[in-house]
Amino acid sequence: MSEKKSSSQELQSPKGMRDLMGDEYYRFQGFFEKAQEIAVYYGFQPIETPTLENEEVFLKGVGEGTDVVDKEMYTIKTKGGDKLVMKPENTASLMRAYLEHGMLSQPQPVYMYGYGPRFRHDKPQKGRYRQFYQFDLDIIGKTGAVLDATIIEVAMLILKEAGVPNPMIKINSIGDKDSRKEYIKHLTNYYKKHISDLGAIDRARLKTNPMRILDSKDPKTIEINIDAPQSLNYLNSESKKHFKEVIEYLDECGINYEIDHTLVRGLDYYSQTVFEFFTPAKEEGEKMIALGGGGRYDYLAKIIGSKKDIPAVGCAFGVDRILDVATESLDPKIKKEPKVFFIQLGFEAKLKSFQIIEILRKRKIPVKHSLSKDNLSSQLSIAEKLEVPYTIIFGQKEAMDGTVIIRDMKTRSQDIVKLTDLAEYTKKMK
Ligand code: AMP
Repeated sequence: MSEKKSSSQELQSPKGMRDLMGDEYYRFQGFFEKAQEIAVYYGFQPIETPTLENEEVFLKGVGEGTDVVDKEMYTIKTKGGDKLVMKPENTASLMRAYLEHGMLSQPQPVYMYGYGPRFRHDKPQKGRYRQFYQFDLDIIGKTGAVLDATIIEVAMLILKEAGVPNPMIKINSIGDKDSRKEYIKHLTNYYKKHISDLGAIDRARLKTNPMRILDSKDPKTIEINIDAPQSLNYLNSESKKHFKEVIEYLDECGINYEIDHTLVRGLDYYSQTVFEFFTPAKEEGEKMIALGGGGRYDYLAKIIGSKKDIPAVGCAFGVDRILDVATESLDPKIKKEPKVFFIQLGFEAKLKSFQIIEILRKRKIPVKHSLSKDNLSSQLSIAEKLEVPYTIIFGQKEAMDGTVIIRDMKTRSQDIVKLTDLAEYTKKMK
């Protein structure tokens, strides 16, 4: 049983989760709009899978023996006894959707993008939340280096347009099934030779997923990893050709990349190309900041229940981290600077306020108001603070006459305008 929360704790958002509001909310929306726009121009279609997913999809898809599944998943037991998880990532859900909707019968490959909250029960710290946001790009149904390159190129464009300073990728290939088998054999032999220097966690990994030892944070293992066999040396000719072509595309597109032999990404479903996106650290001596990652996942479909393999490649960005490093903000369409402050005086005027606000909305003029206030000076002082270019004053007399007073806040000049002419008059407002 968990401890009873004190009333002050009850009034806080859950640990590692936060309210998005004000400018931060707009920054997220601005990013999502821009990322979607770029994705759509490159032929990606939107898809949003549910926040909850059957547990099986992740147990099979992401794989037991990974941190995401073993330690970090929020699992919910429903009243009906089903086990559902709050999505820790989107790839397995997306493949489930592709299979469920028979997308194989559509022209292949299928280009998809999606975004939304993801949940991982990890220790919260800077840049690590329990509810965070990802934007995903995926191409499912065909193989080919050009598709890996499409994901990387579009992802890099999004990072650049989002104002990320000097984005780069680290890239590697773990090859297809055959190459990987060969590689894991050599890697296992290598680690067995160093087993006395491996910590408990890495020893356990040697049994479940030896490639994950390459990700180890243990300083001793990091040293051992320097001379560990490199996956690129075990690629068969097809995997070699695939990776060589991906690199040729990156050169052609002028993408800043670095081949990183220790990059394997921890999840079971990756094959061939794997990559991660970074931006330089803000302070000297700190590590580069990981903004996203991805790769090819040709074997995922079968792992979660497809009769045959379906090639696929994709990536996921951490939007919280991107916005933390971005040097500029993108304004979303819903963010509007008010052009008019609407002032009403007296009950007759208040009654008819919505008529005027609606005329302005139809003309796409953003209005601010303070309808619960009654006197002129308090409303005018808000208008001054907001630095709106115009105020509309609507008092008892105007309500009777069917007019409004429009005041240019800069020149202090005023016009009396009939309500029937207001829509037309707005054309003159700069
Ligand atoms: P992954 O799905 O683990 O490859 O993560 C892709 C990206 O999502 C990472 O590079 C991070 O930018 C972001 N990310 C992953 N976990 C978190 C988290 N707990 N909080 C914030 N961002 C995260």
